[in-house]
Amino acid sequence: MRAVVYNGPRDVAVQDVPDARIERPTDVLVRITSTNICGSDLHMYEGRTDFPQGGVFGHENLGQVAEVGDAVDRVKVGDWVAVPFNIGCGFCKNCERGLSAFCLTTADRSVVPNMAGAAYGFADMGPYRGGQADLLRVPYGDYNCLKLPPDAEERQNDYVMLADIFPTGWHVTELSGLRPGESVVIYGAGPVGLMAAHSAMIKGACMVMVVDRHPDRLRLAGSIGALPIDDSKGSPVDQVLALTNGIGADRGCECVGYQAHDPEGHEHPNMTMNNLVKSVKFTGGIGVVGVYVPEDPAPQDPLYKQGEIVFDYGLLWFKGQTIGTGQCNVKAYNRQLRDLISTGRAKPSFIVSHELPLREAPNAYQHFDARDEGWTKVVLKPAA
Ligand code: NAD
Ligand code: ZN
Repeated sequence: MRAVVYNGPRDVAVQDVPDARIERPTDVLVRITSTNICGSDLHMYEGRTDFPQGGVFGHENLGQVAEVGDAVDRVKVGDWVAVPFNIGCGFCKNCERGLSAFCLTTADRSVVPNMAGAAYGFADMGPYRGGQADLLRVPYGDYNCLKLPPDAEERQNDYVMLADIFPTGWHVTELSGLRPGESVVIYGAGPVGLMAAHSAMIKGACMVMVVDRHPDRLRLAGSIGALPIDDSKGSPVDQVLALTNGIGADRGCECVGYQAHDPEGHEHPNMTMNNLVKSVKFTGGIGVVGVYVPEDPAPQDPLYKQGEIVFDYGLLWFKGQTIGTGQCNVKAYNRQLRDLISTGRAKPSFIVSHELPLREAPNAYQHFDARDEGWTKVVLKPAA
């Protein structure tokens, strides 16, 4: 099969690799028809993680079931399924509590002995190959495949967002504690920040502010009724305070991660976290889904080599704020979000700028990585 293979920093190629296949009776084999490039892939693409050379990217996957193992009962050949980026078992202590991003069965214990959580084509998340390929092996397929309604094939660009970023955008608003009628500020208008804004609008926030500096991404935020805040035009903290009577937003969402930078491009891994503490009110809540890693092989800030940041903890404590962090437990939300899509209440495909055949992946990575104007979300179509 063909797959998007990582050959080193900013070097990916579409190569022939051994076919994915059923390895255990609980596996499902999916023929991939839509697979997104994610901001998480970019940390790996840029060589800012220990993703292995020769590994296959792709954790936002949708397709049609091609084969099932002998112990698979629920999923059938021919079903259209969206596959959560997390690989859970469904029966460990964490999966049973809905924390499928922290599965104890599928985790790679060579990373750290008490490791929790696994994902496709992801640094430190196990040996599982990604789905930017013709085929994907899905372990514990009955648990990990979300069946899609009859309109799945025509509406793939909506349903494929269920694999990661729509649940992740929803999750960050949950972590922040957002309730109907509250205001929220979201740092980052990439796909994840835009999905957080979409989720906050659906949940009935009174005001959704989105901070970034790319006009195309800010325009998309405005197109769904959020207030775009351009931090290249002035302090985002001051702009948020001005919009909230000097009090700050009720809730804040971090959707950028450790490669946060100023509008001139200089990285400051603490920038969005400290801006959030300042732009969220006393007793407010902050959710963090932007990725932070325990080790950065090519840090721009020497302190971040070990994942450390200079954080305004005193002000956070003084303001009595709370923080929730981590990977999204996709299984906790994807069924309900699927139904919001199928009834037309949600339309996450509004961010898609490019639908491209798999062979275009190297070019697409280059443009999306550069945050080139107009490259807001790429969906690769291996079957095209
Ligand atoms: P992206 O890189 O396309 O978007 C990030 C956006 O942040 C860019 O538009 C950039 O201009 C903006 N930005 C950079 N510095 C900023 C600053 N100081 N203030 C405001 N905006 C700033 O990526 P994405 O796909 O939207 O993903 C965002 C983050 O979420 C990444 O770190 C990704 O790895 C992470 N992620 C986490 C999960 C999870 O489960 N926790 C899931 C998916 C993605
Ligand atoms: Zn992703």
